[in-house]
Amino acid sequence: MPGFSFTRSAALTETALLATSSKEQCMQTAGAEVQLDVSIAVFDDGAITVERVDLPDRSAGEIDVAISAAAICGSDLHTVLGHRSAPARTALGHEAVGRVADLDDGTTDFRGTPLRRGDRVVFSMLSECGSCDRCRAGLTMKCRSLLKYGHESVTTPPHATGTLAEQVRLLPSVPVLRVPDDVADVQVVSAGCAVATAAAVVAAAGTPPPGTRILVLGVGAVGAYCAAMFATLGCAVQVRDPSPERLALAAQLGAQPADSDGEPFSVVVEASGSSSAVLEALNAADVGGHVVAAGSVSLGSSTVTIDPALLVTRRLRVTGLHNYTAENFRWGVDWLVAHGRHLGLERLVSPPFPLSAVDEAFQLMKDGRYPRVLVRPDGHGDPA
Ligand SMILES: [Zn+2]
Ligand SMILES: [Zn+2]
Repeated sequence: MPGFSFTRSAALTETALLATSSKEQCMQTAGAEVQLDVSIAVFDDGAITVERVDLPDRSAGEIDVAISAAAICGSDLHTVLGHRSAPARTALGHEAVGRVADLDDGTTDFRGTPLRRGDRVVFSMLSECGSCDRCRAGLTMKCRSLLKYGHESVTTPPHATGTLAEQVRLLPSVPVLRVPDDVADVQVVSAGCAVATAAAVVAAAGTPPPGTRILVLGVGAVGAYCAAMFATLGCAVQVRDPSPERLALAAQLGAQPADSDGEPFSVVVEASGSSSAVLEALNAADVGGHVVAAGSVSLGSSTVTIDPALLVTRRLRVTGLHNYTAENFRWGVDWLVAHGRHLGLERLVSPPFPLSAVDEAFQLMKDGRYPRVLVRPDGHGDPA
């Protein structure tokens, strides 16, 4: 496995993108701080550092959000382990909750609710054009000019595109949603990736009616949210995972450990990322069943051998699912606020690390003890 080296001292690097001599570096506003000089966790040449990045003035329609809490996702780990290609000086992180630091007057969120400085928000990791052939076909997450937060270089506008940072700058096309102050950071921090992806799985499965037998393979963050969402829809959810702790968590979400009786399932969700689990999913699906494959995201990392007659004779439907639409994101946040926050899903998230210790946070993520590792910019963040 390709290694990665952490910089133990998280050295700061001065990076001037634009001359800022005439700009105020920091302005106080209602409830949040506008910064034009922000600390961002950057992955470059095999190492993670926290860079000080000077930002140009915000363009019309962009929203600056001061990060309260961010979570390291498995795909951030894939980036630093070299499992996926990444541009030089990648701004890391794409799951977060924060407060609006600066925006244009008259800005609204994705629901049309007016947004003001200091409002608590979550946001999508995807900026799509909305007009290319893929966007028009509903494949907005595969937009031909897609910008993905957490996967871009700090040299690419709008520069502050990673959430493992003091502040992120959202393009006008990024869906943003206000969230209530009484929902803890750890309960909404995964809204922009794991929760929205799980919402996309539920939608891909046709939002199944109560009683539908569903199997979820893998109780990481996406699998746990899938199991919890299907359970709140009244489905009969079973899960498989090698970890007794994660099976216990799933039980608290309303999902039972899978029976060994071999009874097939109408919907099987592969959320573990294990290539062999794809075969397990196909074998567990009933005649006319639907397999939603959402776990394997690293191209070329492994292969499996499939008997095509299994697909044909069982009339199986297989859907590959990667990322989500803006509507999936909204559904996921609504579900979180109405249901998810009461389920104890914050147990998926580690205790917080300061941004200055982001290298240690990645080390814990690599250990695999927590599906998500929490990072708070030093001195930022709401309680809990
Ligand atoms: Zn993610
Ligand atoms: Zn597009």
